[in-house]
Amino acid sequence: MDEKIVNEDDLGDLRRSHYSFQLSRSNIDETVVIIGWISSKRDHGNVLFVQLRDQFGEIQVVVKKKEVSSDLFNTLRNLKEHSSLAITGVVVEQKSSTDQVEIKPNEIKILSISNKPAPFLTQSVTSVGIDTRLDLRAIDLRRNYLQFVFRIRNTIINSIREYLTENYFVEVNTPKMIATATEGGAALFPIFYYDREAFLAQSPQLYKEQLTMAFESVFEIAPIFRAEPSRTNRHLSEAISIDAEKAYVDYRDMMDHLEKLIQHVISQISKKNADDLENLGIDLPQVSKSFVRITYTDLVRKLQENHKYIRWGDDISPKMLKDIFGDEFFFIVDWPSSTKPFYVKTITEDKLSAEKEISEKKILSESFDLMYGGLELSSGSTRINNKQILIENMKKKGLNDKAFEYHLRVFDYAVPPHAGFGLGLERLIMAILKLENIRDATFYPRDIDRLTP
Ligand code: ATP
Ligand code: MG
Repeated sequence: MDEKIVNEDDLGDLRRSHYSFQLSRSNIDETVVIIGWISSKRDHGNVLFVQLRDQFGEIQVVVKKKEVSSDLFNTLRNLKEHSSLAITGVVVEQKSSTDQVEIKPNEIKILSISNKPAPFLTQSVTSVGIDTRLDLRAIDLRRNYLQFVFRIRNTIINSIREYLTENYFVEVNTPKMIATATEGGAALFPIFYYDREAFLAQSPQLYKEQLTMAFESVFEIAPIFRAEPSRTNRHLSEAISIDAEKAYVDYRDMMDHLEKLIQHVISQISKKNADDLENLGIDLPQVSKSFVRITYTDLVRKLQENHKYIRWGDDISPKMLKDIFGDEFFFIVDWPSSTKPFYVKTITEDKLSAEKEISEKKILSESFDLMYGGLELSSGSTRINNKQILIENMKKKGLNDKAFEYHLRVFDYAVPPHAGFGLGLERLIMAILKLENIRDATFYPRDIDRLTP
């Protein structure tokens, strides 16, 4: 074949008249403009079948050799997957299927040419390793599988906004460049802030708590940054957190909200993404009943039946939980205070004395983790709203209260009792879509090994 440089056409004033989903038998004989990229091509010698993909789906274009110039026919024949075309043509009935239509082109513009064959196919589940895919993520994201996943992600994030907004939560944004660690700990990314050191926020915690003073019920959907030195399938260095915080409620009310939020999300997916779910071969998790709420203490007792070495106060390994709970949503409540951050309220003495076995050393907190099988999706709690108690707790956790002066200052003006949670968006997507790797729940994953693309 003689190599010939093909000029790409200008888009100019040409615009699409219909998306693929807008074309049906009612458009037969109409002249339309469709625009998109080639997701696949079949060459039958004198006829080319081109699948043109747009934002919503595909439409078949049938190019007959005798109906276009031989130059154009040859160019099209040699075009690789992913090249972009604009086609003006007539809608005709598809021969092989009576309910579908295809396009018979009058004019074809080649808008953009792919120079290399892609390392993975658009249609199939690929066996190519995740690193190869991530290196060419924008192309990877064109694959059917990820298209279904990210369409569902879109429903998830919209329905979360919908639920929280309908329940009077106000959407806020808090700074991502901060002066001190929110929760202490080493999981922070330092940055240069003019002539000072600053950090990327690991959570909007203290800001969202403050904002309950002004707006009562707030939420934020934004990145959190965690310098996670470990390589796991459920940790990202940059993740999206859905943070909610509300005045005049406690952790039980926030568990009720979280439960209803998840139920709303699942019901919206089942309404809006039936096709995507079918294509993925996935059944949505059951959320008709209310979620089990098991106390940390009861859970430890239960785990001790099979795992003798577990002690009260230990963190709980997700793997063991999967054995007991399988794939379902449940809450672990009333965690030891020692396992939770400084701003989490402890359970008061009289509530404590009800649980006879728990000695004074075993201080519990008004806290919960929402789990799905062995995966942590969310942590929440009632927060401390008393300045003195907060300072004491900071000291207990080895934090310097002077570094939090900017935060503690507002506690002189009566911070209301409040509670809230942080829910990991990618973790939620993983749970609902049974993804093995959290990296496929995000567009451009960041982890210890990856800072590009
Ligand atoms: P884990 O123990 O699983 O590392 P965590 O308890 O440190 O999580 P929290 O500080 O409780 O996390 O954050 C609230 C939620 O944010 C978590 O339940 C999780 O869904 C999400 N999240 C936290 N860290 C990450 C991360 N590195 N990558 C993805 N999501 C995260
Ligand atoms: Mg947590």
